[in-house]
Amino acid sequence: MVVAACLAAASAQSQAPDWRAVEEETLRHYQALLRIDTRNPPGNETAAAEYVKGVLDREGIPAQIVAKDPNRANVVARLKGSGKRKPLLIMGHTDVVTVDPAKWTFPPFSATRDGGYVYGRGAVDDKDNLTAALMTMILLKRGNVALDRDVIFVAEAGEEGGDPVGIDVLVKDHFPEIEAEYCLAEGGGVTRKEGKVAFATIQTLEKIPRRIELVAGGPAGHGSVPLKTNPVVHLAGAVARVGEWRPPIRLNETTAAYFKRLADISPPEIARHYRDVLSSDPAVQKAADDWLFEHEPRHSSMLRTSASPNIIAGGYRFNVIPSQATATIDVRLLPDEDQPAFLQLVKKVVNDPAVDVRYPQAAIRPGGREARLDSEAFKAIETAVKQVYDTVTIPAMSTGATDMAQLREKGVQCFGIGPATDTEDGPKGFGAHSDQERLLESELHRFVRFNWELVTGLARAR
Ligand SMILES: [Zn+2]
Repeated sequence: MVVAACLAAASAQSQAPDWRAVEEETLRHYQALLRIDTRNPPGNETAAAEYVKGVLDREGIPAQIVAKDPNRANVVARLKGSGKRKPLLIMGHTDVVTVDPAKWTFPPFSATRDGGYVYGRGAVDDKDNLTAALMTMILLKRGNVALDRDVIFVAEAGEEGGDPVGIDVLVKDHFPEIEAEYCLAEGGGVTRKEGKVAFATIQTLEKIPRRIELVAGGPAGHGSVPLKTNPVVHLAGAVARVGEWRPPIRLNETTAAYFKRLADISPPEIARHYRDVLSSDPAVQKAADDWLFEHEPRHSSMLRTSASPNIIAGGYRFNVIPSQATATIDVRLLPDEDQPAFLQLVKKVVNDPAVDVRYPQAAIRPGGREARLDSEAFKAIETAVKQVYDTVTIPAMSTGATDMAQLREKGVQCFGIGPATDTEDGPKGFGAHSDQERLLESELHRFVRFNWELVTGLARAR
């Protein structure tokens, strides 16, 4: 028994990667992927898919290209486990948002290294996760790590904008190939303040994006004769009422845990607001919400289904009263929101029979169940966070959307992870979707180690 245990320990030792060598290889793949122009539109993700498949092929990891549109391919690969436990899916999207090259110090697809950073579109969305997932597959295979779960790797196209070429195709036509108990993808991250790790957020849930249209109508007329029915006037009133309205607060397991854990690590004067939003006293909760809305608007959005009027259109000539004016509201629904009932609520707020309130199209992404905080996966995440970052894990609901929505609808428990970035970097204009994007090389490498610890922690044979 003792001898067997020693042998097991020795073989576990021999599987530990040589991190120095890994770092060089990580950086090579990361830069290569950043240099492939996959801006969406149009995407052209096939170039990145072929690169990724080439790497997997050379390692002897079975991988296939899945493409509905030949220019926008996805990659699916699998390392087999014993099947004792259900598969784990690790995922990164290959497309990036568009760029305005004039605003970039270093060309957006150059992957320039400067001052410890790598610059490029996709540096933190999502070629970081893509690279880390790819490296994890490589290391599992080379280390010949015995697995209890299959580990599935997906590099998907069309995430930005939710184009029906990526996750939708995989979920609809290839689900048996990607079906998993747990999924790790983008949407989380480790927050650094003044160069020090402060906490890690793990995305366990996200809101559903949907638009609502307000359409005001009335007779057209001569601008010299003001009309009571002027659609521009009716629409302006409706937009103002929706804009000033804050829909009811509703917490879920994730957001309740989020504010509680954030309060535990925040200075007392800030922590008070996080605790107060959890209060059962509506007046206390309202005061905290008012403070968040003014100082931390993302937190205010996390409390509710949100509605932001973002487009307003009406009229085409100064001396013509138009017959129609429209506004588009960006609505981010809580995942369990009753969508028809919410539309009725907006109608009540608009309170004008001359203004039609409607959903112009079906939601692109479905709602899904939040990942469980008492799951084996969340515990493994907390362990890996502690081990690699020595900090606390805070579950979070994204106000934005990701490809995990489609998987959650199918019952996969999904967790959004990400590398450490400086909280000061976003306002400086280096965050995801910014006019420049960058990641510290040291944090890329630490993120690969985090992925390794987490995936082996969850999938390694026991
Ligand atoms: Zn992304």
